Parts: sequence; structure tokens; C-alpha cells
Amino acid sequence: MKKTGSLIVISGPSGVGKSTLIGKVRANMPELEFSISCTTRAPRTGEVHGREYYFLSEEEFLRREENKEFIETAGVFAHRYGTLKSEVMNRLTAGKSVLLDIDVQGALSIRKAAAEDPALAACAAFILIAPPDLPTLEKRLRSRATDAEEQILRRLGAAQKELSHFRAYDFMVVNDNLEKAAFELESLLKCLQLRTSLITEELFQ
Ligand code: 5GP
Repeated sequence: MKKTGSLIVISGPSGVGKSTLIGKVRANMPELEFSISCTTRAPRTGEVHGREYYFLSEEEFLRREENKEFIETAGVFAHRYGTLKSEVMNRLTAGKSVLLDIDVQGALSIRKAAAEDPALAACAAFILIAPPDLPTLEKRLRSRATDAEEQILRRLGAAQKELSHFRAYDFMVVNDNLEKAAFELESLLKCLQLRTSLITEELFQ
């Protein structure tokens, strides 16, 4: 059966456990491809260029932006982030599903693009990973103890703003328990593979 892949857009504020969840689900679903984003922020310890991100200078980012190489870009915590078309488009056409881990501004841009592009609308799905409530998120951010107070408050403010857009997403997975949330996310991704809108040929004629 000829099918396009799903474009799976996942957002969630920092401290919500999004990376852990995505890592767990990807381990069980190796067929899911992951889009590596570009960023102008510096690599953290252990991060590798071309694995977690493509780490670019401001100039290189701008050059690629002017070249129209991105599907979407956004400014997050004073740095630029962007999804490359080359990470996504050919894979979708080849029937492979691609997962994007991007912020709410990026998700909203793709939503807007999908409203004008039926092919994108047919394959895009928007998932928000949310904490059970804001005090729980604050506790998690504080327990990481890696951030200064000012940074914790900034992240918390950004999280609240991001979460207030929950209706822009089709699905919300609440991470109150890692195993349960991973099960829900994996089930959801499996269901998304069954959408008839992904089928690109006429059947049963
Ligand atoms: P971090 O710097 O902690 O890896 O990521 C910070 C935020 O940037 C996360 O919310 C992440 O989802 C978001 N992000 C990562 N890549 C992209 C991207 O290509 N586009 C957008 N809009 N956000 C991104």
C-alpha cells in the first residue's frame, strides 16, 4: 500500500520529561525517524554535532534561513532553532514517519503551513507533553538543581505560556508517571500510523 509518513510534532516545556519519554518510545519504535534540528546554542556536555543538533553559528543559521532551507524557525531562550526541510520532506514522501521535538512557536508555524497545504495537513499530528500541574513542574525544575533561581523562574514562565496553547495541539499526554505516559505516547504514535489520510493511492476498486 502506498503511504506517506506521519509528521509527528511533539512539544513540551523544559522539565516535563519530554526527552526521556521520546527516548523510551523511540527505543520501541525504531521505524520512527527523528529530525535533527539546527541551533545556534552551544553544545552541552555529551552532545554531538549531527546527533542531538546541528550546531551552527548565527551567520550560518541566517544563511540557511535566507536560502529557505527551514520549514520553521523560532527563538527559544535567546537562541535560534530551526527544522530543516532536508530532514523531513523526502522521508515523508518515502513513507517514513518523522518526529519533530520543537517548541510551541514552531508547532504553531507548522499548523499554519498545514492549513494552506493539504499534503501537510494529511500527515501532521500535534502532541503536547504536559505536567500534571504547574507546581509539579516547578518542583521538577528545582530538583534538577542545575539552574540558577532566575533561570528556573524564566523556564517556569515560559512553560506556563507554552502550556496555555494546549488547544493548538491534537493530543496531550500528561507525564505524571513515566511508564504510563510512555505507554500512552507509544499507543498514540501507533494509532497515527493507521490514518487513512496517509494512504496515497485508491484502494479496493
Ligand atoms: P534545548 O536547547 O533544551 O535542547 O531545547 C530548547 C527548546 O527548543 C525545546 O523546547 C525544544 O523542543 C525546542 N527546539 C528544538 N529544536 C527546535 C526546532 O527546530 N524548532 C523549534 N521551533 N524549536 C526547537
